[in-house]
Amino acid sequence: MIGVTILGSTGSIGTNTLDVIARHSESYQVIALTANSQVERMFAQCSEFKPKYAVMVDDAAAAALESQLKSAGLDTEVLVGTDGLVSVASLPEVDCVMAAIVGAAGLLPTLAAARASKRILLANKEALVMSGQIFMDEVKKHNAVLLPVDSEHNAIFQSMPDSYQGNMEESGVRQILLTASGGPFRTIALSELESVTPEQACAHPTWVMGRKISVDSATMMNKGLEVIEARWLFNAEPSQIQVVIHPQSVIHSMVDYVDGSVLAQLGSPDMRTPIANALAWPKRIEAGVAKLNLFDVARLDFEMPDFDRFPCLRLAYEALEQGGTASAILNAANEVAVAAFLNRKLKFTAIAAVIERTLTSIQSTSITSLDQVLEADREARQFATSLIQ
Ligand code: NAD
Ligand code: MG
Repeated sequence: MIGVTILGSTGSIGTNTLDVIARHSESYQVIALTANSQVERMFAQCSEFKPKYAVMVDDAAAAALESQLKSAGLDTEVLVGTDGLVSVASLPEVDCVMAAIVGAAGLLPTLAAARASKRILLANKEALVMSGQIFMDEVKKHNAVLLPVDSEHNAIFQSMPDSYQGNMEESGVRQILLTASGGPFRTIALSELESVTPEQACAHPTWVMGRKISVDSATMMNKGLEVIEARWLFNAEPSQIQVVIHPQSVIHSMVDYVDGSVLAQLGSPDMRTPIANALAWPKRIEAGVAKLNLFDVARLDFEMPDFDRFPCLRLAYEALEQGGTASAILNAANEVAVAAFLNRKLKFTAIAAVIERTLTSIQSTSITSLDQVLEADREARQFATSLIQ
């Protein structure tokens, strides 16, 4: 049996992961589930999967879950807070950690999984965007295995040579072609962007996701974060990562080789494919995903990204070029701005403005320790918040 911890089990990636695991209960055992505060959903997951541990970050939620579990006669042990997250990411009986917390909150438990030499299935791109080289060094130092769950990075991983060790030239790789749907506002009149609502921003044309990543997809900051994610996962220079708008979301990304070959991974837009791929790698398991019907798809379109329409994408490239803590500052300002937009305290078009002002106002430094990353995150959050209130 493969022991699994799911960090962020009540979210979109978390529930899709449990869906895949439920199809293969003879191979995978859920050891721990974690959530921020959603007691009802966590209780239902505990009833179905009977994990040894459940972590609630919120104290009151933990107490409520504990009493519900007790009344139902379930012996899942409830842990609390970031300490609880870190401990279930490092348990000896856990082989595999799905990192599916949204945002910077996932950094410490995901790093803990690396330090405990786990197989990490990485959905929580913000953790890697913030800590970059530090995260990759911890993975290497502790012989952890890092497998991308983000659909694009999983597609790149599948299209890279099996032996790929982080040297693009040696592997004959010319460029990574990172596909993007363009989100819900790819063709809306620019003058209308200012007044779009959270509901419109969260109505993604091809993917059903959590609210934060849905807004990131609408601003294309999601693609910007993914460029930074690809830089670290595949040791690629920013110029070796080309964003390609592909509205059908059928090609999940491609790798361009020096001999002129372009290898791609295609599939129905369903996160259970990359989740199953990472869970079972190097094997393949059934994931409940509809077979791709190319006759229904009929055509595949490609466009250049528009940096005027999507300034967040430009800002992400700029932060990456700047290096050091700039990516952590970008990420923190984005999290603050997106939360404010979702709470109707900020216009959609002001998200990029808040990030740009934060990036230009806070000095980035080179990173030698995790503390610098956490300090940059804290400082950027404080500054971005002051711009909004
Ligand atoms: P979601 O909002 O649906 O779920 C987030 C999960 O994290 C929940 O379980 C929630 O309880 C937990 N969480 C939230 N705040 C927390 C905190 N402060 N501390 C601890 N736990 C907390 O998000 P999602 O769409 O599942 O995305 C999760 C991650 O996966 C994100 O980093 C996202 O970028 C990435 N991702 C998601 C998709 C997708 O299709 N949803 C695709 C690619 C990558
Ligand atoms: Mg993605």
